[in-house]
Amino acid sequence: MAEKRDYYEVLGVEKGATTDEIKKAYRKVAMKYHPDKNPGDKEAEEKFKEAAEAYEVLSNADKRARYDQFGHAGMGGAAGGGFNGNFSMDDIFSRFGDIFGDFFGGGFGGGRGQGRRVQRGSNIRIKVKLTLEEIANGCQKRVKINKDVTCSECNGKGAASEADIKTCPKCNGKGTIIQVVQSFLGQMQTQTTCPSCHGEGKVISKPCSKCGGTGLERSKEEIEFKIPAGVQEGMQLTIQGKGNAAKNGGINGDLLVLIEEEPHKEFQRDGNDLIYTLFLSIPEAISGCQKVIPTVNGKVKIKIDAGIQSGKVLRISGKGIPDINGYGTGDLKVYVQVWIPKKLSKEDKELVEKMHKSESFQPNPDKDDLNFFERVRRMFN
Ligand SMILES: [Zn+2]
Ligand SMILES: [Zn+2]
Repeated sequence: MAEKRDYYEVLGVEKGATTDEIKKAYRKVAMKYHPDKNPGDKEAEEKFKEAAEAYEVLSNADKRARYDQFGHAGMGGAAGGGFNGNFSMDDIFSRFGDIFGDFFGGGFGGGRGQGRRVQRGSNIRIKVKLTLEEIANGCQKRVKINKDVTCSECNGKGAASEADIKTCPKCNGKGTIIQVVQSFLGQMQTQTTCPSCHGEGKVISKPCSKCGGTGLERSKEEIEFKIPAGVQEGMQLTIQGKGNAAKNGGINGDLLVLIEEEPHKEFQRDGNDLIYTLFLSIPEAISGCQKVIPTVNGKVKIKIDAGIQSGKVLRISGKGIPDINGYGTGDLKVYVQVWIPKKLSKEDKELVEKMHKSESFQPNPDKDDLNFFERVRRMFN
């Protein structure tokens, strides 16, 4: 075993640190090396255990005083009491689980912090396609998914009958085993998850015939959930507890819903604003008119002023997409485009001839006639 590091150094605090400072420091270190953040990383796991051990001593006034006086030597053998030496992961979560609880709402890492390890079902990922109308107004969705549910035959226990569930003989039902190791520091106790029952404390002599001992079966389930207004392509919603079930009454995984946006035939999304292109005939643009415009929640009537130019952008306030965080609602931006006919009858051609000769039809723009892009361009030149 490597030389033990100083407990204060492990937590990165001064010798005179208050209990509160020690707690905060431990939380910081423990978060950094948390096994769920560093899966499979042995070094992180060791650091995590080391921090727990340091915290165990420094958070207890008696042990801290003894450590201050005698150093690690004062913690060896019976004097240290309880968990001196090496911690198992389960010890850490059962003893200091509340430290993580504040951060992860208890459900983190498969419901640790309850002594014996509670299993957690896996998450299920699905995609949901939404129209802009559904995004603008929020919606309720109903999906059918195949998932692991608790086996109806054994009620999740995995055994053919109650009598086939036996207390694990190796750990006597504790789920952990203690190994006593002699070292130069004295007797060290190492607590590890029982390899025979994998920490469950129970073994099954005859498995359930329906699920083969897994305690789970596949089932099609209909799930209904709400999608808030304002979501965007690529966002992921978490529907808690609607994923796969876990063995032995463990915690359900989550249903992760990936949002996809269906292209809309009338609107284009621009953040929380929507863009709509309004075509006007030449006479409409010349004389002005009333137009009915579609929006994501019903139609609205707008007035078009006489002499409107192609490229003009009209804003209909509040007819866009509501902000997902509640910061108001976007606008509907109406891009005006005057439609130019492509085919003309003989009479129409005569009409155009007349327009050619008329002074009123010669371009004579003032600055209000410039389209949006041209105005922006001139602003920066
Ligand atoms: Zn079963
Ligand atoms: Zn066991």
